[in-house]
Amino acid sequence: MDRPSLSVVIPCYNEQDVLAELYRRLSDVLRDYGKSCEVVVVNDGSKDRTWAILMEMAAQDPRIVAVNLSKNHGHQLALTAGLTVCRGERILILDADLQDPPELLPQMTAIMDGGADVVYGQRRHRDGETATKLITATLFYRLMAKLTDVPIPQDTGDFRLMSRRALDVLLAMPERHRFLRGMVSWIGFRQAPLLYDRHARFAGTTKYPTRKMIRFALDAVTAFSVKPLALASYVGMISGVFALLLLGYSLGSWLGLFGGKLERGWTSLMSVMALLGSVQLMVLGIIGEYLGRLYEQAKGRPLFIIEQIVRSDADESKNGEIARPQDVIR
Ligand code: UDP
Ligand code: MG
Repeated sequence: MDRPSLSVVIPCYNEQDVLAELYRRLSDVLRDYGKSCEVVVVNDGSKDRTWAILMEMAAQDPRIVAVNLSKNHGHQLALTAGLTVCRGERILILDADLQDPPELLPQMTAIMDGGADVVYGQRRHRDGETATKLITATLFYRLMAKLTDVPIPQDTGDFRLMSRRALDVLLAMPERHRFLRGMVSWIGFRQAPLLYDRHARFAGTTKYPTRKMIRFALDAVTAFSVKPLALASYVGMISGVFALLLLGYSLGSWLGLFGGKLERGWTSLMSVMALLGSVQLMVLGIIGEYLGRLYEQAKGRPLFIIEQIVRSDADESKNGEIARPQDVIR
């Protein structure tokens, strides 16, 4: 198979307003890059004109490979679909909204020429993000560092340049709740940071509302740590000690050691019951989060479904194929 020297992989969800500018900036970068390139753009079930624009782009520029997913799969799976389809020796992961400047490609390439398998962008500064996003993101990365044994770099998104061998390892991981930046760290090899300033979105609004962010954070924690499961034992031990103290107090009262009447205990009894009940439900909920993910993984459904791929050397027979990352490795 003839591999292009570089693949740029870009997931797009309702990004009609940024695509023209994205194409313009990327074209300049790729012209300067000089070697053979392809740009894999994945339409993740957009409701706007994104797919129409991507098809136009693919018709005009042979370097563009437009992939249409059957529905909205979410950022991480759309990205996985693009990574599965791409054929390059090196792979640049980019967001459509130009928050991460493609102009950093030469710097990343230079670091990779020096022997790194993964060059990840690390944000020095973030423009145009809300205070809530900044605070939750900071807390999230610090929490992840506490919870997991995998050294996941702080303040790092999916913006990175990867070697083919690193990508092949990544694609061999069939997990469905994907926290790709963590999975890439887990692979090992030599990984090097490139510090950069993250800009504000070029146009449009974030496609990560709070609901999706919470799910993403839960995926990250459950995929990389089982420590929350151990919470049950700690909470159990603490409430055990508490229960013993309470037992002592009750027996003492029964024996009349503390004076007063026994019936006084109603309020405290109710609060202890409520407390224990909520703790038990919380711990059950944590177990449920893991169990649900185990169940979904056990079903082994394909991670994404491609409806159509548009590229200049298109192989029509592949339309509607169900691709699994593993298939591409073989
Ligand atoms: N995205 C996607 N599917 C989704 C949500 C987002 O493909 O369901 C894409 C989106 O088009 C963008 C990238 O993922 O290219 C990152 O999304 P966004 O910029 O909205 O996230 P933020 O930078 O605000 O965290
Ligand atoms: Mg963005």
